[in-house]
Amino acid sequence: MSVQDQLRTLYTVDRQLQALRSRVDAAARRLAATQTRLDQHERQQAELTEQLKTAQAKVATQENEAASVEARIEQLRQTMSTVRSNKEYSALLVEVNTQKAEKSKYEDAALSEMTQVDDLQARLKLLSAKTDEQRTIVEGAQKEVAEGESEISDQLTELQKERDAAVAPIDEGTLGLYTKLIAEFDGEALGEIEEQDRRRMEYTCGACFMSLPIQVVNATLTAAVTPVQCSSCQRILHASPDLIEALSPKEKK
Ligand SMILES: [Zn+2]
Repeated sequence: MSVQDQLRTLYTVDRQLQALRSRVDAAARRLAATQTRLDQHERQQAELTEQLKTAQAKVATQENEAASVEARIEQLRQTMSTVRSNKEYSALLVEVNTQKAEKSKYEDAALSEMTQVDDLQARLKLLSAKTDEQRTIVEGAQKEVAEGESEISDQLTELQKERDAAVAPIDEGTLGLYTKLIAEFDGEALGEIEEQDRRRMEYTCGACFMSLPIQVVNATLTAAVTPVQCSSCQRILHASPDLIEALSPKEKK
């Protein structure tokens, strides 16, 4: 088997592998995208929860302050009920009024923080519904990936065996070149020679469409060990069995 036949066999298996994986790959990409969105929701949810805790703590602090002022007012009132002189009474009354003003300051602050708490709670409720929804979407995508993988697993094992067999006769240098081209051209490592005009000996590389001198075409057909590359795109050239047959010298009958 010539080197171009070996490479074409490998290439055919690799294209099948690629096609087989592409369905699962698409599902895996969808899963990654849905997971990213879920992560965003969860981060936002954690942030809002933190803000809510802070706001609730502030409400508690203001309410505690208001309660201790209230206790102080109560004390002042008890003292007021025991004093005899008007002067003392008036002084206490002034103090009570001052404390009442103080208390209502804390109460106002607590109320305004409570509005913040309500707002945060409402936003969290909406977000948590969205997060749950997104989690369901992620679970669906996970299932799709798992199903896809189990569906292709038998075929994948089979093709992998075929690939191992196809790789075996290819020498290391050629395989290295092929692997490099696969990476470079997103799987399209070979260029098939296309015949434009046999009489005028016009041939092109099927991958980059540049014309190929007849010497290159002949070299490709006869290459035994070292593959021939397209001088324009560097892909490894190969010819279809039909073209090989047509261009091989025939015994005259
Ligand atoms: Zn080319």
